[in-house]
Amino acid sequence: MSNFISNRYRNLKVYEAGEQLGKGYIKLNANESPFPPSPKIAEVLMEQMIDDMRFYGDISFSKLRQKIAERFGLTMKNVAIGNGADDILDLIFRTFFDEGDQIAFPSITYPFYRTYGQSFALYYHEVPVGDDLKIDVEDYISLPYAVVIVNPNAPSGHYLPVKDIERLVKSDLNRLVIIDEAYIDYGGISVAPLVKKYNNLLVVQTFSKSRNLAGARIGFVLGDASLIHDLNGVRGTTNPFAMSMIQEKIACASLDDEEYFVNCVQELIATRSYFTKELRRTGYTVLDSLTNFVLIQPRYVTAKELYEGLKEQKILTRFYKMPRIEQYLRISIGTKEDMDKVLATILQIDVHQPKCIKI
Ligand SMILES: *Cc1c(COP(=O)(O)O)cnc(C)c1O
Repeated sequence: MSNFISNRYRNLKVYEAGEQLGKGYIKLNANESPFPPSPKIAEVLMEQMIDDMRFYGDISFSKLRQKIAERFGLTMKNVAIGNGADDILDLIFRTFFDEGDQIAFPSITYPFYRTYGQSFALYYHEVPVGDDLKIDVEDYISLPYAVVIVNPNAPSGHYLPVKDIERLVKSDLNRLVIIDEAYIDYGGISVAPLVKKYNNLLVVQTFSKSRNLAGARIGFVLGDASLIHDLNGVRGTTNPFAMSMIQEKIACASLDDEEYFVNCVQELIATRSYFTKELRRTGYTVLDSLTNFVLIQPRYVTAKELYEGLKEQKILTRFYKMPRIEQYLRISIGTKEDMDKVLATILQIDVHQPKCIKI
């Protein structure tokens, strides 16, 4: 660290992503999709792409914003795009919060919110989650500052219905509510239509999970035209070309291939149900999840031991050494074949260890 680093960043904890150990592993530690991106993407990338790259693209990204707007029954003025949802979240924090402002989010959630809180020098309140890591919107309704909720939440998988979020949004129209819907396509209902009714709601989504495009870095946010105007304005002062024209083309091609998207999501949901049912049948606690991952609690070994045992067998999962969730292992849902292998391996590792009795 140099002496020049800003005070805000001096004590920063860098986000730890899931390990990337390369080929040979079944990789179920970063909530990536087990399916390849839409085959339609290869077609548009070949076409004209290389020559076009000499030019700056369309600074308003109108083609992509239009397509996203149509999908949600909104207009382009309700959509801002970014280099992944993380970039969008950074833009939101930069645009709407001043140093010393207060925000609230659940104590168990996407760890980046703590990081954003620190890097923008905010006071952040971590509202404790309830039994089974559930979020109760009642806990947020009387808070006089901005609220961020991941819905369904990560890494718990817990989902709040639209009516709960609407209750929170309308309980104080002077409070900004940010809903991160990174996993909404896996069985939840988006609150996106509410942005037509309320001008204090932002809804963030990503192409990284349900559109199998984590490496392409494509995210977007929906909101009232006034909020989106602010976001695009701030973007214009720092980095007006929020994504490359390659990303925009990829995103449009993915949206054009609805059938492939629906099939991938349905297959993932079916595999999640199967995996959950099989584990519960053999006595495991599995938290209900409307995402592409589940939290499971081992029977005999600790979650850390199960994590290590699986890693030895070339299966990567996610263990959090943190109060409230260290008894669980987070396993992203892969293909049915992957999950059969995971099930068999778990049952081999997680066996009753008879205690030695001294005679
Ligand atoms: C994956 C994820 C993101 C980041 O998505 P990117 O588009 O890959 O930056 C944001 N929020 C949550 C809750 C996520 O799980």
